[in-house]
Order: sequence, then C-alpha cells, then structure tokens
Amino acid sequence: MELLERVKVLAAQWEQDLIANRRHLHANPELSFQEYQTAAFIQERLKSWGISFQAPVAGTGIVGTIAGKNPQKKVFALRADMDALPILEANDVSYKSKNDGVMHACGHDVHTTSLLGAARILHELRDSFEGSVRLIFQPGEELLPGGASLMIKEGVLKNPEPAGIVGQHVMPLIPAGKVGFREGMYMASTDELYVTVKGKGGHAAMPEQNIDPVLITAHIIVALQQIVSRVASPKVPTVLSFGKIIANGATNVIPNEVHIEGTFRTMDEAWRAEAHKRMKKMAECIAEGMGGECDFDIQKGYPYLENDPGLTQQARAAAVEYLGAENVVDLDLWMAAEDFSYYSHEVDSCFYRLGTRNEERGITSSVHTPTFDIDETALPIGAGLMAWIALKQLEVK
Ligand SMILES: [Zn+2]
Ligand SMILES: [Zn+2]
Repeated sequence: MELLERVKVLAAQWEQDLIANRRHLHANPELSFQEYQTAAFIQERLKSWGISFQAPVAGTGIVGTIAGKNPQKKVFALRADMDALPILEANDVSYKSKNDGVMHACGHDVHTTSLLGAARILHELRDSFEGSVRLIFQPGEELLPGGASLMIKEGVLKNPEPAGIVGQHVMPLIPAGKVGFREGMYMASTDELYVTVKGKGGHAAMPEQNIDPVLITAHIIVALQQIVSRVASPKVPTVLSFGKIIANGATNVIPNEVHIEGTFRTMDEAWRAEAHKRMKKMAECIAEGMGGECDFDIQKGYPYLENDPGLTQQARAAAVEYLGAENVVDLDLWMAAEDFSYYSHEVDSCFYRLGTRNEERGITSSVHTPTFDIDETALPIGAGLMAWIALKQLEVK
C-alpha cells in the first residue's frame, strides 16, 4: 500500500479514538497555563503508544519525539495548543464542559486531539521516513505572554533547530472536509493601548478655568487615525480601534482626566515599532499643546504571523494530495492574533486552517462564542493531514 493510503487508513481506523479524545478534552477544559489534567491526559496517551516525551516544559507543556530512520538527519515540528477560554458553554451536547465557566471555544481540544492522532500515525509509520518529528503541545495560547514564547525560551526550537514547523487551527467559516492556506503575512500583531489624558476639571460653564481632557481626547482619537491613513504604507494592513472611553464627568462637570483603551494591529515588525513611537508622540504633543498631559501605555502582544512561502506551498501541495484540489482553499488575511507567530519569526512556519463547519447540522458559530462546536468528521483529517505534511517533509526523495 502506498504511504498516503496507509495514513488515510490509519486515520480512518482510529476515528473513534480521535472522537473520544476530543470529547474528553472538550468536557474537561482548563484555562491558560493551568492545563494540568490536559497535560496528564496527553502524557498518558503518548505513553500508551510508546512515544517518548519530555515534560513539563514551560509549566504544562510537553515535547514528544518520534524518531524515524537516521533520526538526526532532519527534524520537523508539529504544534498544538491546549488551553480553553473563560466562557460558559451553551451547547447541549453529551461532551459539554464540566468546568462551568470554562470552555474549549477556540478548538484547542481539536488541535490537541489532531496532534495526538498525527503522533500515533507517525509512530506507526516510523520506518517510512528519515529524521524525527518533534511534537509540541504548548500551554497558554489565549493569554499573554503566550505559551509559544515560553516554549521557545525553554529551547523547543533548539538541539537541533527544526527545519520547519506546522500548526493548524479550526475554522468555522470553512466546511468540514476542506482546509485553507495562505503564504506570507497571515495574522496580525496585536498591541493594547491604555491612554490617560489629564487636564483640570471644573464647572462646565467656566471653560476658561479648566483644561478640558474630553476635548483633548477627542482630538487625540481623530488625529491617531491619521497614523493609519497617512503614515502606514498601504501595502501593510494596519488597524487602530478604540473601544473604551471613560470621561466620568456630568452635563455640567468637566472631569480631571479621561481614560481610553484600544488595539493596534499590523503585519510588519519594523512598522509596528515605528507606529508605537509615532502614536505616543502625537498623543503627547496634542495633549501638551492643549495644556494637558498624556500617559500613553502600550502593552505589546503577539507579533504578526508570517507563513514561509516555500513551506506553505509544500504543505498546500500535500493537502491537495490528501484531500483533492477542490478541498483546499485560499485564506484571506486575518487581523486577529495567534501566538504561533512567535515560531514563525524563528523557523520556517506554516499555520493553516482546518474546516469544521456543517451548515446542515447548524454548526456555524464563531470561535470564542458559547455555542462554538465542530463537525467531528474534521478530526481524521486534522490528524491524518498533519501526519502527511510531516511525512512529505521527511520522506526520502
Ligand atoms: Zn482563540
Ligand atoms: Zn485558538
């Protein structure tokens, strides 16, 4: 039997195990950096199949190794995230979350299940490839500083450095049975902005005695949008949004200060650093020019995510072989963030999407909502395709 056929047969043969694993993880979600039971479950599964691993790494992380023939020849890495979100699940299903207020609403249960499945397949086929597969189960994707950054600090991309890394994420916009790819810039860097504008409050009827922080803030918000429209290159997607303004005065009271919070997202690290300086300077100068002051605090989030064109083309070609060209779609830019981006600035990376939608069965909810769910027919694809992409990287040509 050809290797591709063997992968598909194993993925189909273990479908019930994949579903059971996913349902177990879904029913027992844990918040970021608290994935203790999840980690124990992963370790128990890996042990039962005879796959060696190192744990704990970065708290609750696990790094497994599957050695093929000539294991030093090349290392290729596969990554899954393990954490859930602080959301109360609203689905009425047998595998509903047993931890009230915690839910796998971003599909990380699916990612963990897929990587476990891929590991089992690759372990079974370990005589068919040269080199090694590194299995990275990381904590805390949903919470800064991001488990990926901690895993990298602990050396998961060293000794030796992998030739490439692949991660997959569920996508409820894409029907189950399909997957999506995009080369180059794919997801955004995300920074949080916390701005306090200080003036001098007083009676609203006597503006000459006050320094009005509400008006200063209004000017700052309008002016900062010029950073996006006049300073950012049109070739680099950039978004600035303020979603929170607190000016707690009254119809006849000017407050002492105003607080605003927003998000800045883009897809170029040099521009991101430059934009931080420009925004801060512009806000401070406007406040100063109007007699007030401005504290402009930027909490840096994840970097932007760059899919290596070569690796992404190869992974896409592997997906076409596995699923047929009609089931491999092109992805749009996505201005959300993902900590897989940290890996993408270290080694050749490909982050692709696993379709999980089923309109007929009403499985359409977005990630991060209380009704998010998946069509479980995506599970054998999630496991099998990941294994196949790794095999294509490590096959002897
Ligand atoms: Zn998420
Ligand atoms: Zn996610």
